[in-house]
Amino acid sequence: MSDQFYDVIIVGAGAAGSYIAYELASLGHAVAVFEEKSASRLNVCCTGIISTECFQSLDLGTDGILTKVNSAKFFSPSGRYLRVQTENVQAYVVNRLLLDKAIASKAQSQGAQYFFSSPVIDIIPGKDSIQAETLCFGAREIFSARAVVLANGFRPKLPRKLGLGKIKSFLVGAQAEIEAENVDELEVYFGQKIAPGLFAWLVPTRVGTSTNKAYVGLLATSQAKLHLQKFLNNPFCQGRITSREVEIEQKAIPVGTLARSYGDRVLVIGDAAGQVKPTTGGGIYFGHLGARIAAEVLDEALSSDNLTAGQLSRYQKQWKAKMGKELSRGYWARWAYSKLSDRQIEGIFNALDSSGMAEALLNSGNFSFDWHSRLILAVLRRSSAYPLLKIRHLLFREASL
Ligand SMILES: Cc1cc2nc3c(=O)[nH]c(=O)nc-3n(C[C@H](O)[C@H](O)[C@H](O)COP(=O)(O)OP(=O)(O)OC[C@H]3O[C@@H](n4cnc5c(N)ncnc54)[C@H](O)[C@@H]3O)c2cc1C
Repeated sequence: MSDQFYDVIIVGAGAAGSYIAYELASLGHAVAVFEEKSASRLNVCCTGIISTECFQSLDLGTDGILTKVNSAKFFSPSGRYLRVQTENVQAYVVNRLLLDKAIASKAQSQGAQYFFSSPVIDIIPGKDSIQAETLCFGAREIFSARAVVLANGFRPKLPRKLGLGKIKSFLVGAQAEIEAENVDELEVYFGQKIAPGLFAWLVPTRVGTSTNKAYVGLLATSQAKLHLQKFLNNPFCQGRITSREVEIEQKAIPVGTLARSYGDRVLVIGDAAGQVKPTTGGGIYFGHLGARIAAEVLDEALSSDNLTAGQLSRYQKQWKAKMGKELSRGYWARWAYSKLSDRQIEGIFNALDSSGMAEALLNSGNFSFDWHSRLILAVLRRSSAYPLLKIRHLLFREASL
């Protein structure tokens, strides 16, 4: 048993875990972060696209920016595309490893203590404290604190063990970094044969140098790696990828939220709580918002020395008020999309293109890189094309939107 006693132990040094470590340490709390990976191998399978809103809120330097996004091409299953462009930068592609390291170093500069190569294998709640059982460089050790934050990504074991439930539904993402030619803006590919249940992408990460680089990836309901291997041989990619070898990584993303993201002396944030946009699989911003709300609630609870589940339930109320509707509408919209055939998806492209709706929506104030539900509802209200009527019907029947 370690002699050190912390205010808060955080499990996981991803974007969400390190951000809450930074906030709590800045408020003067004694914080320890346990991360199973070593400091030099912190990388995450992630494209690193974040909105300008998220980038500003993270308040980091510009070092990690790979490219800026103010245009995109959306491809239908048959290969026709809609191109949208805005005057202002909508999003940044950031180096995810540098992003996580930058947030961790901000937390460390405020006094947060980091334990790398130290997986937490169990959490043991007690009356006056809570314990984390860890394997610090392989040696079993127990650390105590007043509270624990689970920020350990989509790993159901610890939340389930603490009786907080389990997120049952998930998507699988697969991605590779490649050398590529003629990939100079974000490209998104729809079609159930390409990426069943969501979409594939090509994202430039380095343009205008001797070797242009890009991420190629997709999110699918299953077998993401296999679908990505097929996509690499698709006419959309052929002749554009110059890498000799392509190394594919994959990771699961939760779809849906944890039944309870709080307990006695415990909060759950980020992917672990299901704070991920179901329409895109993007979780950096919503996890960051979850971390901010959790820090505020936990600071109050630590100050009043009331760390009961009743007190900490405010966290769930507040984050659901901020993003709950967005997550549930996104959940159902993605579900309805997954029921469409490629012909029906093609029909949606026809409707959006022929009526000039895509352009109108972009300029209507309903478009936001992070908050999609207004855009989804606006599309459904404006069009009577059959596939959109089908989505509308499914959403009203299943989700009472
Ligand atoms: C292919 C792909 C592309 C994506 N692209 C984007 C994108 O462009 N934009 C976006 O916003 N999101 C994207 N995402 C989603 C994004 O990666 C996640 O939402 C985000 O990483 C969640 O952050 P987190 O801090 O909650 O969890 P994570 O980043 O998963 O961090 C959790 C950390 O906890 C550690 N850990 C786990 N268990 C333990 C344990 N028991 N003890 C100690 N440490 C532990 C892990 O090693 C990890 O470092 C993508 C996902 C995939 C799969």
